[in-house]
Amino acid sequence: MKSLPYFCRGEVVRGFGRGSKELGIPTANFPDSVVEHLPSDVNTGIYYGWACVGHGDVHKMVMSIGWNPYYKNSKKSMETHVIHTFKEDFYGEVLSVVMVGYIRPERSFDSLDALISAINSDIEEAKLKLDQPEFLKLKTDNFFSSSSHSPSAATTAENSIINGH
Ligand code: ADP
Ligand code: MG
Repeated sequence: MKSLPYFCRGEVVRGFGRGSKELGIPTANFPDSVVEHLPSDVNTGIYYGWACVGHGDVHKMVMSIGWNPYYKNSKKSMETHVIHTFKEDFYGEVLSVVMVGYIRPERSFDSLDALISAINSDIEEAKLKLDQPEFLKLKTDNFFSSSSHSPSAATTAENSIINGH
C-alpha cells in the first residue's frame, strides 16, 4: 500500500456501543472527518502501528477499518485498540496514530470466541512486527511530539498536511 505509513489524528468519539470493552478489547473511534481523509488505496481490514493519547506515551496499536453500519455500510469507520491498559476512558481526547502495516482483511466469525482469538493473534502479530527497526523508528517520529494535540487543533486540514511531511 503506497499510502503507508499513514499519519493522522482526531478527537476520540463514541462508537456504536458494540461492546468491544466487554470483550476486553476497547476500540477508540475516530470522527468521520478523519475517516473521510483516508487515501483510497487504504482498504478495509486490520492494521498495526503506533498510537498516543493526548501528550501521553506512544504505544503499539491495532486498528480495524471497516464498513460503518450506522451509514448502511456506505462509509468506513476507523477503530483503534491501543495495546496498553489505561486507568480511564479518553473520550474527547486527541488520538494520534501512524498506521504502519496491514495484517489481514475483514472477515466474519462463527463465534465470539473465534473473534476474540483472532484479535488476540492480531495483537501478537502487531507486537512482533513493530519491534523491527524500520517500524520502531516511527515510534519516535516528530509527529507524536508536535504541539497540535488539543481537540481544536486536530483539524481535518492538518491531517492532510501531516502526511506530506
Ligand atoms: P465505543 O463503542 O464508544 O467505541 P468501546 O467499548 O469500543 O466503546 O470502548 C472504547 C473506549 O474505551 C475508547 O473511546 C476509550 O475512551 C476507552 N479505552 C480505554 N482503554 C482503551 C484502549 N486500550 N484502547 C482503546 N480505547 C480504550
Ligand atoms: Mg469502539
